[in-house]
This record gives sequence, C-alpha cells and structure tokens, in this order.
Amino acid sequence: MQDPPFDYLLYNTCGFIGDAKEESIQAVLDGVRAKGRGDVSNLVVFGCLSQRYEAQMPSLIPEVDAWYGARDLNPLLRYLGAPASKFTSRLQENPRGYAYLKISEGCDRRCSYCAIPFIRGAHRSVPMEDLEAEARQLVSEGVSELILIAQDTTFYGLDLYGRRTLASLLERLSAIDGVERLRIHYSYPTDFPDDVLEQMAHNPKVCKYLDIPLQHISDRVLDNMHRHIDSARTRALINKLREKVPGVVLRTTMIVGHPGEGVKEFAELMDFVREARFERLGAFAYSEEEGTWGAGHLKDDVPDEEKRRRLEELMSVQADISLNYNRSRVGSTVRVLVDDIVNGTLVCRSEGESPEVDGEILVSTTKADEAIIGSYIDVRITGADEYDLTAVQL
Ligand code: SF4
Repeated sequence: MQDPPFDYLLYNTCGFIGDAKEESIQAVLDGVRAKGRGDVSNLVVFGCLSQRYEAQMPSLIPEVDAWYGARDLNPLLRYLGAPASKFTSRLQENPRGYAYLKISEGCDRRCSYCAIPFIRGAHRSVPMEDLEAEARQLVSEGVSELILIAQDTTFYGLDLYGRRTLASLLERLSAIDGVERLRIHYSYPTDFPDDVLEQMAHNPKVCKYLDIPLQHISDRVLDNMHRHIDSARTRALINKLREKVPGVVLRTTMIVGHPGEGVKEFAELMDFVREARFERLGAFAYSEEEGTWGAGHLKDDVPDEEKRRRLEELMSVQADISLNYNRSRVGSTVRVLVDDIVNGTLVCRSEGESPEVDGEILVSTTKADEAIIGSYIDVRITGADEYDLTAVQL
C-alpha cells in the first residue's frame, strides 16, 4: 500500500463563540475525511477549541491523532519532531506587504460574555525588543505594514513595564527603516490611552485607523457585559477620536441580542450607529458560552430568531452608511499598498482599509506587468460600492 502523500494535517482552531466552534469542527471533519481517503497520515488539532474542550474533544473525534491547547506550542513542536524553542523567525504563508504582529497574549478583562480569558490565560506582553526583532525580520522579507493585534492592544506593557506602553511601542516600531504603516486592532474603549491618540494624530507611520470593539451603547447592556464604560463615556471617546485625529477611519463591532437588550436598548443601539456613522462595523448575535459569568448569571432572554432579525436590521443600516462613506471618497487621490495582482487588476488598500475585514481598492492599470506586490502607488478613486472601491493608477 502506498504511503499517504502528506505526513501531517494541522488545524489551528477557534473556540470563541458558537459559529467559530462550528466552523472549526467542520474543518476538522474535512481532515477526518482526508485521512479516511488515505491523503494524510496524522491529523493534529491545536488552538482554542482543543484548549477549551480538552476533556471532551478526543472522544468526540477519535480519528484525530493529537490534540494540543492554545498554549501548547512547544509540546506540539516536539510531536512534529521540531526543536522546541522560542520562535526566532516566521514563515509567511502568502508573502504580502503586510503582516500581523501579535504584541501580547491573553486578557485580564472580564467581559461577562467572553470565554477568551480562560482559554488564553492572563495577559502577557511580548517584550519590545522581541517585537522590534520580529518587525525587522518581516521588513527584510518585504513587509512594510504591521498590523498590531492582541486580545486587548491598549493593555500592552502593563505586566512587563508597570504601565501601558502601546504608544512607546508604536514609536519604537516606527523608527525601524522600512516600516511604513502601523495599524492598531482590538483596542479596548475604557480608559483609552491619550498618548496612543497622539501617536495616531502626529506619527505619520501610524494609520489614522482604529479598530475599537464597542459591543453596545445602552448603559443597561454595557453594565451586563461588564465593560466598565457607559454610554456617555463611549460617545465622548468617539467624539474625541474624531476631533483629535481628523479623518480617522473607525471600525467597531457590536453584539446584538445580549441579555438585557430589550426593544428600547436595541433602538438605542440603532440610533447610536446612525449617529456615530462608523466607517466600518461588524456585528454578532449573542451566543451564551458555558463557563462565562454571563452564562451563569444572566438569562439568555432574546429568542434566536429575534437576534437574527436585529442583526439583519443593524447590518442593513450599516450597509447604507458604508456605501455613503465609500461614495464620498470618489474623486479623491490616495496612496495604496499593492496586496495582490489578479487578472491584471491591482488589489490594494489605503491606510483606511485593513486586510480581510475591510473592503479593497481595485485598481485598473495598463502597467500591471510592472506592478510589484508590496509596493505603494498613488491612485484616484473612481467608483464605490458598499464594500469595495475602484480606482485608476496615477
Ligand atoms: S477584552 Fe476582549 S478578549 Fe478580553 S474579556 Fe473582553 S471581549 Fe474577551
């Protein structure tokens, strides 16, 4: 009998909410089918799902050869026969001009609906020197945009340096030759650090773009969520961001159907979304996660069908806001990073778009043969839909 063409098939899973768990399990079942066809010898699953359900998963999917949790990187490397050590270099799956830089792991917040703190553990920052070394290595491979991620980027540094030091990290990374853009994701609104705002306003390498999940606006729901911020302070923060960083592009996420979200609270949320006019907004329907404070103390009181209806209503209002925002950009000229070249069209992003979550700027050009992925070009926006923009190269 012939050996399977692949030794290992590895799945990095997500166990955050119901939909993500379902998607992860379906992917692993695809792997089980691949193993059954004789395409692969060993099936390995790691990440949050296996961490969260380490007692249950092995008996549920016995075809998997090895399960490792989100914090078991060294045991996983040993299983694969690689030396267990600190990572000193990264292999990029799809070389592009951008890369994600994970600045910390874990979370010390205790949002009542969220399972991440007990999946990922307490907040641990990566030392600045290590991040600088990683950034330099990425730059040497052609990366010029670094997307800073963590469970809560604004918490960065507290465990290592005794204070929050995201602003200092931005300064140090922007001093590296070859770093052109720094983009902040997953920032937490409560006590948003003023020095980070200053960086966004005055450091030309820090994108005037902020991903800041707000989750809701109603005091009652925010209180149930344990977000430690209220409606007035949320509004004040959004006003301050728009005032101090003119032209800032704000991305947020909202949860609909959270316990305590009655008709009045949902109407408040809709009014806020219409008023704040976030350039980008994503939303989820609440799903009760076992082990969380919310699951033990709050009644999941919005029926699933109503959650879905609210989600659709919210996203339909946001679709109009996004379309109007995109249309307002037609005629403007922007500097964009070329992410890809597909059938002679350049797939690009300005500082206002983050990869994967936001739309793209699709550039027609007669010079596609000369285009280089990872380079910057100037374009004029010529058209817009709800997600993407079209443009011509200047
Ligand atoms: S800040 Fe984010 S990761 Fe941390 S508990 Fe809240 S929702 Fe979860």
